[in-house]
Amino acid sequence: MTDQTAPAKATPTLPDAQTVTSVTHYTDRLFAFRCTRPQSLRFRSGEFVMIGLMGDNGKPLLRAYSIASPSWDEELEFYSIKVPDGPLTSRLQHIQPGEQIILRPKPVGTLVLDALLPGKRLWMLATGTGIAPFASLLRDPETWEKYEQVIVMHTCRESAELTYGRDLVTALPDDPLIGELVADKLLYYPCTTREESAHMGRITDNMTSGKVFADLGIAPLDPAIDRAMVCGSLAFNLDIKKVLVSAGLSEGANSAPAEYVVEKAFVD
Ligand SMILES: Cc1cc2nc3c(=O)[nH]c(=O)nc-3n(C[C@H](O)[C@H](O)[C@H](O)COP(=O)(O)OP(=O)(O)OC[C@H]3O[C@@H](n4cnc5c(N)ncnc54)[C@H](O)[C@@H]3O)c2cc1C
Repeated sequence: MTDQTAPAKATPTLPDAQTVTSVTHYTDRLFAFRCTRPQSLRFRSGEFVMIGLMGDNGKPLLRAYSIASPSWDEELEFYSIKVPDGPLTSRLQHIQPGEQIILRPKPVGTLVLDALLPGKRLWMLATGTGIAPFASLLRDPETWEKYEQVIVMHTCRESAELTYGRDLVTALPDDPLIGELVADKLLYYPCTTREESAHMGRITDNMTSGKVFADLGIAPLDPAIDRAMVCGSLAFNLDIKKVLVSAGLSEGANSAPAEYVVEKAFVD
């Protein structure tokens, strides 16, 4: 993992420009960065915005990104893939502190607490960079005030790809704002699908086999108390929906809260 915080060269001011304040590289495929926050930007933890860079043609090259920082944070944080030939991330992965990104301040999304009916246990189910909206929600006191237990399942191919989420989750009990709220409420179940690790396998398999419930010593899914938020690849989202629906949970939205909500982590 490498951190960059030193100011770098100045770039011309862009429309909706925000300045990058720090960059952390986790693997050759994953990095996170923080940037200034527009004073006027209000968002609900879990929402996404359009961010990007100016394209060679002079037009903004924008992509959807979950805001990984909580709604109270003075700065914004993003957690990103590096797609080798990706129009945006082949360039964004080289961003340095002091340089600018474009941010359209129109947050939207369904992974918000308001889109769920009241419940006791909240499941955060993520693959890959799908952990980003949960990085926001996990640092929001409202999440811990609303739920008695929060269970984070994050699956990646290799252990190093879990580092961003693991660092964040393990730091929560020491967080001055929410540490006491988190106390005994947090359960973390990171899994790998390729590399050997303590917990192996896909989230769907670990739920349908009952392994996650046995390992954590908790009761199976119950629509009366369980709420779930899902963020992963399209294939994962479709598979996990079947698991949740068969357990009796139904899909919610901002306009009609229910037992679970889903967002794509990226478009295939
Ligand atoms: C609602 C929403 C929220 C998103 N939030 C994030 C986020 O927080 N962090 C993030 O890194 N990306 C996120 N994305 C994906 C993001 O919008 C871009 O696709 C990504 O930054 C790559 O951009 P690109 O221009 O380099 O390549 P693109 O042309 O956009 O993508 C090229 C290909 O790369 C693959 N790909 C793209 N993004 C990912 C990814 N995140 N993980 C694995 N494979 C991927 C897909 O196969 C895609 O077809 C989100 C997408 C949506 C729809």
